[in-house]
Amino acid sequence: MSVNLLEECKNAGRIGISGHVRPDGDCVGAVLSLQMYLRKCLPAAQVEVYLEKPADIFSEIRGFDEIHSDFPEEDPFDVFFALDCGAERLGGAEKYFRSAGKRINIDHHLREEGSGDVNHIVPQASSTCELLYDLMEEDKLDRDIAMALYIGIIHDTGVFQYSCTAPATMEKGAKLIAYGFDFPRLIQETFYLKTYVQAQVMGRALMESVRFLEGRCIVSSVDSRTMEIYQVGPKDLDGIVNQLKNIKGVECAIFMYQTGPLEYKVSLRSGEKVNAAQVASYFGGGGHARAAGCTMTGTFHDCVNNLSLHIERQLTAAD
Ligand code: AMP
Ligand code: MN
Ligand code: MN
Repeated sequence: MSVNLLEECKNAGRIGISGHVRPDGDCVGAVLSLQMYLRKCLPAAQVEVYLEKPADIFSEIRGFDEIHSDFPEEDPFDVFFALDCGAERLGGAEKYFRSAGKRINIDHHLREEGSGDVNHIVPQASSTCELLYDLMEEDKLDRDIAMALYIGIIHDTGVFQYSCTAPATMEKGAKLIAYGFDFPRLIQETFYLKTYVQAQVMGRALMESVRFLEGRCIVSSVDSRTMEIYQVGPKDLDGIVNQLKNIKGVECAIFMYQTGPLEYKVSLRSGEKVNAAQVASYFGGGGHARAAGCTMTGTFHDCVNNLSLHIERQLTAAD
């Protein structure tokens, strides 16, 4: 089911927008582009973004400094959007979504059903930003909206590399760069650039990685102590799992960082033989066929053993 953004919001006085915890580029691009678009098209409405604080690399996107990250009590919203996830991953904003007069869910993750009254869930789409581009009226776009959408698309496609990139994704990318923002710099500064300490932690994770299942699977982890020593947080670990996946022979890469005494946030990246979303879903997570995540409890070895079982089963079935 598609959704007419302006029609759905036409009588709304207060509109809220949120996305998933640990927001990535697609999530940040989506919430801020939609805020700009609705403010422009519906000047009488109040449109606010509620989102866990994103990484500073996204601070150039208009509206970044206005994001509410403290989730105070609010009266029910007339319309509330969940972007790039379902209600269960909204974190502190879940309460706004649940109590809103109308709930709209726009997402591209593999899911059984949407969480809203109005749902637009397209798992084949590269990114939520690509979906929003399709839902926005072209004559209402401007340079700032285009830049936010473009950042979302490049982050979820790995700069138009991953298999979720369709010919139409690149056509939209072409239309977006025509708005004249400095895209080479944006790609470099938001996608590739690392601080020295981020590079050091990545180097350490690569050096300590272990291969198993005859080199078809690789795992590495960063524990809380290491994160403390280097003074890094989860946002500093982005990209490590992709580097692990870039190793020859690897069909499935696992990167985990410790979130509690016996708890890990797990990221999975896979090739064609393993459905990462399916593996993650056994542990309460989800995502896409080639990139997924979940949170697991137990020791490092417990987690790896449990994941390994499901990965091995899929590799065997694919051989
Ligand atoms: P990550 O490895 O955290 O970068 O996540 C890879 C993909 O899986 C992204 O599209 C995430 O939104 C999704 N994902 C990560 N963790 C979860 C989770 N716990 N539940 C559902 N989807 C997730
Ligand atoms: Mn996301
Ligand atoms: Mn996304």
